[in-house]
Amino acid sequence: MKIPSLLPACLALAASAAAAHEPGAHVHGVAELRIVVDGPQLQVSLESPLDNLIGFEHAPRTDVERTAVRHMARTLREVGSVFAPSAAAQCRASGVQLASSAALGESIAATPADGDGHADLDADFSWTCDHPQALTGVDVDLMRHFPGLRRLKVQVAAPSGQRAVDLVPGRRSVTW
Ligand SMILES: [Zn+2]
Repeated sequence: MKIPSLLPACLALAASAAAAHEPGAHVHGVAELRIVVDGPQLQVSLESPLDNLIGFEHAPRTDVERTAVRHMARTLREVGSVFAPSAAAQCRASGVQLASSAALGESIAATPADGDGHADLDADFSWTCDHPQALTGVDVDLMRHFPGLRRLKVQVAAPSGQRAVDLVPGRRSVTW
């Protein structure tokens, strides 16, 4: 019997199709982005299989792997290169926190590993906006920087309500 070739290379939760739709499911190529707007504060949390960002999910062992980790950390810490909140809102990035269950170095915090051979990257970004009433969306350029990321499942909690949207390559705008 032929195995369908469209299956992602790694499905940690392949045993249950339903489980793959639950938050936190580890599916290569897919990541989750949570956006929270609270007064002048904008917070964005990314949870992604590490494979999407650097192509492997363990502590770097070679110079090539160390370079990949450094490049990822540098890209994510240059917040303006990956996220563009509404310009009129005049939001200033106020912090970036990176954490992973793989020991990556580069000042990336370590979180407990699941022990299943997979690892995620958690990234928290925050901004303070001078004109929050003008904050109506954010453009997300993660997929341009990280081609291994093919789908971003976005959840927004804003004063106007909650919504969910999927971003795919070529679709980068989230509005609310
Ligand atoms: Zn994995």
